[in-house]
Parts: sequence; structure tokens; C-alpha cells
Amino acid sequence: MANTMMDVKSLKNFINGEWKEVEGETTAVINPATGETVVHVPLSTKETVDEAVVAAKLAQKEWAMVPAPQRAEVLYRVGQIMKDRKEKLSQLLTLENGKVIEEARGEVQEGIDMAFYMAGEGRRLFGQTTPAELQNKFAMSVRAPIGVVGIITPWNFPIAIATWKSFPAIVAGNAVVWKPATETPIMAYELAKIYEEAGLPKGVINVVFGSGSSVGDAMVHHKDIRVISFTGSNETGSHIAAECGRQLKKVSLEMGGKNAVIVMDDADIELAVEGIIWSAFGTSGQRCTACSRVIVHEDVKETLEERLLVAMEQLTIGNGLDEKVKVGPIINQAGMEKIKKYIEIGKNEGAKLLAGGYVLTEGEHKEGNYFAPTLFTNATANMRIAQEEIFGPVVSLIPVRSFEEAIEVNNSVTYGLSSSIFTKDVNRVFQAQRDLDTGIVYVNAGTTGAEIHLPFGGSKGTGNGYRDSGVQALDVFTEWKAIYVDYSGKLQRAQIDVE
Ligand code: NAP
Repeated sequence: MANTMMDVKSLKNFINGEWKEVEGETTAVINPATGETVVHVPLSTKETVDEAVVAAKLAQKEWAMVPAPQRAEVLYRVGQIMKDRKEKLSQLLTLENGKVIEEARGEVQEGIDMAFYMAGEGRRLFGQTTPAELQNKFAMSVRAPIGVVGIITPWNFPIAIATWKSFPAIVAGNAVVWKPATETPIMAYELAKIYEEAGLPKGVINVVFGSGSSVGDAMVHHKDIRVISFTGSNETGSHIAAECGRQLKKVSLEMGGKNAVIVMDDADIELAVEGIIWSAFGTSGQRCTACSRVIVHEDVKETLEERLLVAMEQLTIGNGLDEKVKVGPIINQAGMEKIKKYIEIGKNEGAKLLAGGYVLTEGEHKEGNYFAPTLFTNATANMRIAQEEIFGPVVSLIPVRSFEEAIEVNNSVTYGLSSSIFTKDVNRVFQAQRDLDTGIVYVNAGTTGAEIHLPFGGSKGTGNGYRDSGVQALDVFTEWKAIYVDYSGKLQRAQIDVE
């Protein structure tokens, strides 16, 4: 089934509007559900990055001169092609990433929504006009493109995150060099084809396949790439930030999370169970916003445990292309090893394992990377399983005695991406949305489910203050320019010639 879905055996880079074969090493892209090779991807080098940057630099000069509403026309066409091709893209996404097909369709839809939303920015890209302090003088601020921007994306949302970054970059008049994760290059290949078909001028987007340590590193070090927009782990992000800091290069970072659902004593427990199951085990827990902690009021702890166990038994685990499957595979062996390590850590720390905690190896699970949905209880806030990102289908229950303690536990981690509270008390709702220190807060819903027209990102250790998606994404890819037009015909000095 796998390989018939791909129209090529080996992917090519997309540079200056041309598909370029890379001489040298390639690596296999493995379907995590079956262990089969789907396609080969080139491991490009620094020289290829240099070539892409030269093309992007030339293209950007002309692209910036195209009126923004015309630039946006390309995005409308991109959105329409994605819409027409939604099912094919979704199937390919499941093939390379493993997420279940329903979620793959959701991710592709996110990209479609982003295309139409950002295309609308072609007729906005609002600046400000403001009174000047002197007579016969006009003052305004506008957004200006930055030049060549570098986009580095992870494997867990291979198309959505690329659209969050490349669409605002392009509508704002920049040119892009994009390095997708080596694990999931197919979405990049497909999106580049769509850009080509939509008529994006050559060189405005360039896709260079290859490892982070080679292609990614070359991008970060390249003097003509003026912005790096990165999503991935904290380890890589902090390394990139240090280098960008040295060069005074703008860098936007979206990194890890340790997200919690709070279940208060007055919560609708059935609804909370649904929210926890969806956000903890969807994408097998491999979302940056996945629920990894449940902070539960002690009065409802037992009921919640019982109902969660029942709901977990109903989760079907397997190949995400099967419509009945709810939990797909883990991306690779390294991911599996990390999860296994945290199961041992949790046990040794004294948390009680209520369900799961093992690898599935029999029958249809034999060839893929499958980990049983796992529930720990009686965890405490400072345990490593309650503090560190596991990135798998593992959730830990932390009992608390009060609302105030729940907020404190939520805020005790270094990350600040997403949080959620289940309660019927309107006062607690408003206190929680004020006091939860995450970039995203949900009330009576799980920790996942962001909409593209709102800013996406986290506070504290999750990021560095920028946001993906929403109009705020434009802040990454534009500089503010303040413009003063003096039409008095004489020299007027601000702060000095004021009567
Ligand atoms: P990762 O290992 O940091 O990789 C992310 C990207 O960075 C990949 O394209 C990778 O390339 C590249 N890279 C690796 N080393 C690099 C270097 N030295 N210089 C430049 N680029 C380099 O992260 P991941 O394991 O793929 O993704 C999972 C992480 O992403 C989790 O922590 C998750 O929470 C986070 N995430 C955050 C958000 C958010 O918006 N906050 C969203 C999704 C995911 P190769 O892998 O190809 O070598």
C-alpha cells in the first residue's frame, strides 16, 4: 500500500523554481506504522544551502515589489489546490508521520485555513497612522519585509507548521529557505509542488532537504538569512538561539510543552474524560500541546481514574490509515526509547502505574512503533514525569486539595505552552484564565485544538516571545518602519520647534 502513493522514489530539492537532484547521500523515510521505506530523501550540504540563499536573495528583491494583494493571490491559489488535494495530502501525511487519518485531515485543513486567512493579510498588513507633533507633518508606521528568511520545522506537524511560517513570510514580501524534518519530508515536497503550480515566482520558496546538523546549521550560520523561524525541541532551539544571538539575527522559537488539564471537584467528569483522552492520546501524545499531566481535585480523583481506565480500554491502536484506529505509532525508535525510559523513571519515583507502560509487539503491531496508552497516578508536581516532556502517550495524575494548589502545580513547570481547566464555576474560570501562565488556555476542553487566526505559542521555556499563526505571525517576518513626511517646506525639528 505504502509506496504506490508516492510518485517518485527519491525526493529532490526545490531551488530557484527547479527540482534539483542531489549527488551524494540519501536516507530512507520510514513509515512508523509498518517499518516500510516510503521514499528516499537527500542529505544536502552547506553548498546547497548557499545555492538556495543566492536564489532567494535575488527573487526577494522582485517579490517585495509585487503589491501585497497580488502576492496574496498566490496564497489563495495555494489554499484552493490544498483543498482540492486534501485527501491525498492527508493520506501521505499519515504515511510519513503515522498520525491517524482523521487527525491528518485536520492538520491539512489547518494549512488550508491558514492559506485563506494569510491571503487576506495581503489587503491588510496594517500599519498605523498617527498625529505628528508638528504642523504640516504626517506620521505613520508600516511593516517592511526582512529579506531571506529561514524556516526549520519538526516532524510532528509537517504541513501545518510550515504553513504557519511560510504563508505570512511570503505574503509580507520575503523569500524563504525551508528545511523540513528529515523524518517527514513528503509534506514539504507536496507543498513545494503546490507553490509551483500556484505560480509563485521562482526562488521565492526554496526547499532544502537534509539533517539539522548540516542543512539547519548552515542556515543558522548563513549571513544572508536574516530571520530563523524554528519549531522543535528546547535543546535544538536554545542552541540555535545562542548562535543567532551572536550574529544579532532575529529568531523565533516554538519549543516544548508539559501541558496540564485541571479537573476541579465541580467538573463535568464525562466531558473531562473526553478532553483528556483526546489531548493525551491523540497523535500518540506527540503534540507540543499534548496533555501530559492531569491535576485533579482529590474529591473526584477516584471517579476520574475509573472513567479514564474505561475510556482507555476502548482506544484502538494501529496503522493510522485504518479509519477505526484512534492511536497511531510513535515516530521512531528513539522516540520509543525515550518513552520507555520515562516509564521506568515514573515507577522509580513512586508514581503508581494504572495502565499501559509497555510496547505492543504482537500481530499487526509487530513491524511498527506502538506504545500502549499509559496512565500513572499519585504523581507529585516535582517528579520528573510531571516536569519533563515525554512526547508519547503517557499521562500522570497529580492529586491536589484546592483550586489555588491546582494553579500552582500547573505553573510549576519550566514550559508554558497550553493549559486547560474543567469547572462549572464562572469565578474559577476567570481566575484561571488570568493565573495560568501558558500562552494558550482552554476552558472545558482539552489542551489541544488551536485555531489558526489566534496566536500560537508559549510563554516561559516554550518560546522567546514570538507567535506562530494569527496576525502576530507577521511580527516574525516584518520589521516596523516609522515614516515622517514633512510638507511644511521648512526644517522642523521634533521636540525643539514645538510651540
Ligand atoms: P528537533 O530535534 O529540535 O528538530 C526540529 C527541527 O530542527 C528538525 O528539522 C531538525 O532537523 C532541526 N535541527 C536539529 N538540529 C539542528 C541544528 N543544530 N541546527 C538547525 N536545525 C536543527 O525537534 P523534533 O524532535 O523534530 O520535534 C519535537 C519537538 O518539537 C518537541 O519538543 C515539541 O514539543 C516541539 N514542538 C513545538 C511546537 C510549538 O509550537 N511550540 C510545535 C510542534 C513541536 P532533522 O531532524 O532533520 O535533523
